[in-house]
Amino acid sequence: MNTEEIMALDKKYVMQTYGRQPLALKKGSGAVVWDMEGNSYIDCLAGIAVNNVGHAHPKVAEAICKQAKNLIHTSNLYYTRQQAELARLLVDVSPHDLAFFCNSGAEAVEGSIKLARKYTGKGEIIAMDNSFHGRTVMALSATGQKKYQKGFEPMNPGFIHVPYGSLEAVQNSITDNTAAVLVEAIQGEGGIIIPPVGYLKNLKELCKEKDVLLIFDEVQTGFGRTGEMFASQTFKVTPDITALAKGIAGGFPMGAIMASQEVGGAFQPGDHAATFGGGPLACAAGKASINVILDEDLLTQSRDKGAYFQSELLALKEKYDMVREVRGSGLMLGMELEVGCAEMVNAMRERGVLINCTADTVLRFVPPLVITKEQIDQAITAMNYVLSKY
Ligand SMILES: *Cc1c(COP(=O)(O)O)cnc(C)c1O
Repeated sequence: MNTEEIMALDKKYVMQTYGRQPLALKKGSGAVVWDMEGNSYIDCLAGIAVNNVGHAHPKVAEAICKQAKNLIHTSNLYYTRQQAELARLLVDVSPHDLAFFCNSGAEAVEGSIKLARKYTGKGEIIAMDNSFHGRTVMALSATGQKKYQKGFEPMNPGFIHVPYGSLEAVQNSITDNTAAVLVEAIQGEGGIIIPPVGYLKNLKELCKEKDVLLIFDEVQTGFGRTGEMFASQTFKVTPDITALAKGIAGGFPMGAIMASQEVGGAFQPGDHAATFGGGPLACAAGKASINVILDEDLLTQSRDKGAYFQSELLALKEKYDMVREVRGSGLMLGMELEVGCAEMVNAMRERGVLINCTADTVLRFVPPLVITKEQIDQAITAMNYVLSKY
């Protein structure tokens, strides 16, 4: 089957919720993917910050194959070694004590909100303008961007949105019924927005003082993306609850909520559940993937390659007036342009590099952490060419 035939099938049989690129992928390895026609691409998007250990990592593939031959699903009515061991590993690498497993980022955010409400006995959540937390109705209600909510109202009550980066706005919005403040450590979909210096630390102090929980949505910033395992470590701020997904299991669908012993202990049997959550197959993939991040020292790679990639993008900013700003942490990078960037994504694809455009004007680079310097150079060469043509 070729790309055109696949596109025709999709058009006929799949709900058209995605503005897809005209590209059907067949295979991947490390930071490279191939289409149906055998063309290769340097993948600077990594399944939207998911394939942190690279495509088809042999250790992850082997763990999935091996587990699939033994036990794919059990339900949470029984214990599995895989789930218990993944929880231990997540606790080892995170600032938290307990895990709950689900299947996606939206579910992890929703579960985090449920946990905050259960622990505090309060209802209101303060979330940020320009944030993104997922597409289920509660996650959408938390999301501070009207364009995602439009047509799906009513949103859930209990969410207040304040400008990202303003401590004062949070302070003024806290009431006796505030359960938690929900924040992305770096706003991803919102355009790779880095918080002002000290903001997250001050937010933590404020929350502590007011007896309000702090929830970090690290669905996109997690698993080495920003140069440490979690952005909470990059910014040296420990939240009360962390929502995880995307890079957690090397591309296998999974989400998790992490919390302290005290907060996580508020969930009692029957309070929360997910049929597929923490299934042995996903947990085997998660364990293998996190071990790859540790064994291959991908955190150092993220920092070093990220610094190099960012400096090369900055050099392009010096060269082209249309580049307004380059920013990021580790291998979570954004290049903001003076113009809409959708066209450039196409032009980059035609030159063999996959990226995307978020918040209309921000080119997002979130490649696998295993990307090589040579591959970064190739992406920069393509970017230089594309910018020179506009
Ligand atoms: C992608 C993302 C989500 C939603 O994750 P899904 O797995 O698509 O539900 C939530 N929060 C952030 C910060 C994200 O980047």
